[in-house]
Order: sequence, then C-alpha cells, then structure tokens
Amino acid sequence: MAETDFAARVLAWFDQHGRKDLPWQHNPTPYRVWVSEIMLQQTQVATVIPYFQRFMQRFPAVQALADAPLDDVLQRWEGLGYYSRARNLHKAAQIVQAQYAGEFPTDIDAMQALPGIGRSTAGAILSLSLNQPHAILDGNVKRVLSRYHAISGWPGEPRVLQQLWQYAEQHLPTTRNAAYTQAMMDMGATLCTRSKPACLLCPLQSGCQGFQQGTPQDYPGKRPKKDLPEKSAIALLLRNPAGEILLQKRPPTGIWGGLWSFPEFADENVMADWLLEIHGQTCIISQRLATLTHTFSHYRLHLHPLQVDFDTQTARIMEGEGWLWYKAGTQFGGGLSAAVRQFFQNT
Ligand code: SF4
Repeated sequence: MAETDFAARVLAWFDQHGRKDLPWQHNPTPYRVWVSEIMLQQTQVATVIPYFQRFMQRFPAVQALADAPLDDVLQRWEGLGYYSRARNLHKAAQIVQAQYAGEFPTDIDAMQALPGIGRSTAGAILSLSLNQPHAILDGNVKRVLSRYHAISGWPGEPRVLQQLWQYAEQHLPTTRNAAYTQAMMDMGATLCTRSKPACLLCPLQSGCQGFQQGTPQDYPGKRPKKDLPEKSAIALLLRNPAGEILLQKRPPTGIWGGLWSFPEFADENVMADWLLEIHGQTCIISQRLATLTHTFSHYRLHLHPLQVDFDTQTARIMEGEGWLWYKAGTQFGGGLSAAVRQFFQNT
C-alpha cells in the first residue's frame, strides 16, 4: 500500500468513525491538548474526561497552573495515579510562564525539553493543536504499526522502537495532521485493540501483514519477563481520641512523592522507638490490619498497617510542615497516597 494510500484510508475512516467531540478537541490550544495528553498516558479516555473538566475549571490557562501551589495540583490529580505526571505538569507550566511568557513553544525540540514531554507527546501536542506534521508513537499507534508491518520484538527495545518511528514518519500525510494523529490513536483504541482486533472493519486490512499472517495478536512482542522485587514496611495508623489519623507528607520525589501517607517504618522496633520518642511512653498495638499491596513499575510494596490508639492528645506531634491529623472524608489542600485511599475505602 502506497504511503499516501495508508494516510488517505486512515483519514477517510476518521471522517466516518473517529472521535471528534472529546472535551480537549473543543478549543484545542497547546495548553488544553498538553494537559489531556499527559492525563491520557496510562489512563483511559472515559476516566480522563471528568478529571480534565475539573482541571480546566480550576486551571483554565497555563498561568493559573504555574501560580497554583503543588498541593492543589496533586489534589486535582488524586485517583489518576502516576503522580510524577502532575508534578511535571506543574514544573513545565512554571517554565512556560517564566521562559516563554506563558505561550507554549511551537518548536518540537523546545516542546520536548519541557519536563514530562517526550517525543511522542510533543508530536501529539503540536499536531493536534497546531496541525504540524509530526508523528506520534503512543501505545495504540505502536500496536497498529507493529501489526501492520509485522514487526516482531518488544517496542521497548531500541531496534524495534527505531523501526516504528521510521514507519510512523513515513506514513504521515501532507495535510490534515491533527485529524490523522487523532485517527491513529482512535484506530488503536477502538479497532486494533489489544486482545480482539476488529480487522474486518479496519481500513488498513488489505495492506496489514499481521492480518495476512492470521495472527495480529502476536504483535507487538511482549516485554521479557522479569520478577519484580518485593519490599515490605510497617504503616503506622496512629489514631488520636478524636478518631483522626496521623499522616505524613512524603518527600517530593520517589513513590507517592508530595502526597500524604501513613508514616512508614522498616520494622516494629523502629516504630516503637519513634512512638516512645514522641509520646514519652510505650505504646500498645491495638490492631494488626490487612496488608496493603501496591505494585510499582520497579517493585512491589507490601505495607503492614498497625493501629495504635493514643488515649490522650500528644503535644509532641503538632500539625504543621509535613504532618497532619486527618479525619476520613474531609477535604484539605493536598493529595492522598493510594495506600491511604485504599485503606479508607476498605474500612
Ligand atoms: S487489519 Fe487488524 S491487525 Fe491490521 S491494523 Fe487493522 S485492526 Fe490492526
């Protein structure tokens, strides 16, 4: 299939079946498209829509985002996960404000230099908002192209990735780049799906090598298996007489960076020493609760929650920088870690 034919088929399909009414497709400024693209990394469209709408109400322009406290941004992100995305959004907004007078750079290299924006995201922002001719290579597009060209191997391998980029650029149309980018994402999400590609409805079927081989699901190749290391820690659920639980703000980097979580300890002895230090007397563990397990990209964490009840309000743990007595369900200016949310959902 000629290159122009590939793009023409994709565009014709888009005109009939593509998504044209997503909230970020209305008034698609670089700012709005950027926020949507970051939210859509690792997250489904249906989940993103209400988050995007609330985010835009609170931060309608890049200046509002740059001027907001990070805690406020993290709070709006609560539940979307991968919080480094929110921290990078905030950082990038401040750079756009300070270095580009609040206007997004329109050059792909400058766009890519912003925190959290890789080659594919930069291409998506510039093509979707400004119709620039840039290729994208998100998970959906990788799947379509590796099936269409029957590229074996895991797209995380540099050799495979390079090949995919070459094809992605080769197929670009000479006009209608915004529509083409959206179409490729939509085809991957709705037609060329992971487990059941709808090849009979696909405009690329006649040239698709994966389809011709009869095994499109074999592409793209899987990531080589590697056992995740396991880690465990004690999570302290310290309750005061008012039924509030002590939360500690995590350092800005690392897992759940900048979010509020239970104080964590390597083991019970370390926890007991710390409690003795702040309370002045030995504390009794009143309950051992069900383990909370979280899988991160590089390890699996098992948190063993131990509940301790203070019968008198201790003067030595005051609210302030880094500490908070939290009443379940109350609003405050910060985000909660997945462990805290999971705990309160289960209780
Ligand atoms: S023909 Fe099937 S496998 Fe090939 S691109 Fe279309 S949906 Fe994907």
